[in-house]
Amino acid sequence: MSQDKMKTRGFDSKCSPKLGNERAQQIITKRRQFPGASNAELGRRLNISREWVRQVLTQANLPTRAQNKNCELVCDGCGITFRRGKKLIKYQRAKGQERFYHNKKCYLRSRLNPLKYKAKRKWDYNAIYQLRNKKNWGSVRIGRELGIPTATIACILKKKNLTREYKKRDCNEVCKLRKEKGWGYAKISERLGITKDAVAYILKKSKLTKRRKKWDHEVVWKLRREKNWGTVRIARELGIPDSTVSFILKKENAQ
Ligand SMILES: [Zn+2]
Repeated sequence: MSQDKMKTRGFDSKCSPKLGNERAQQIITKRRQFPGASNAELGRRLNISREWVRQVLTQANLPTRAQNKNCELVCDGCGITFRRGKKLIKYQRAKGQERFYHNKKCYLRSRLNPLKYKAKRKWDYNAIYQLRNKKNWGSVRIGRELGIPTATIACILKKKNLTREYKKRDCNEVCKLRKEKGWGYAKISERLGITKDAVAYILKKSKLTKRRKKWDHEVVWKLRREKNWGTVRIARELGIPDSTVSFILKKENAQ
């Protein structure tokens, strides 16, 4: 590579990357972002050779090899959480292993006494899976139905990869309807064909729980207070449905 080419690629002319360099900083941030990636993979992302990546990383005192990150597992024998290397888990899964035990003793106990192992499950997992799969209930609702703490259910469902993930398209549409038209849960869920719970969840997540007021409540209250008009007259004056006016006035009384 010629010196000019080096310069255009953003490197120092002395053939050794410096940490102040913009490219070097990019490599470092990518390394932190993807601890499981190899140097070659990082280089491919930034269009740099893996040797440059290695040199920058050694200068920055960062690992130059793909890290074998530990994963948290739950022991199928006693329920304790333990850590195991990602690669080992992958290897064991490839071999067909489905259950993981935190040590050999636990493994033997569970294998020799499968009945005991089965009795150890405190909750009816299949009921939880069914409620999630068939009715798509949230963990709070399932918990109330079965009398299990919500956090436990969330944990169980997470292990089975049954977390409810709302599609981004739905999220955007719900937010749009709420922002532009100020609709309520029921109307949005009817229009989009999503459950009310899902709509409420999305709105809560996007901090849109407070509805934009369609009518000016202040004016209604003012007319009632100052002129003591009836509901029908206020409604006719402002062009609001009668029931809405009475609802607004009722709300004020409650407050
Ligand atoms: Zn164990």
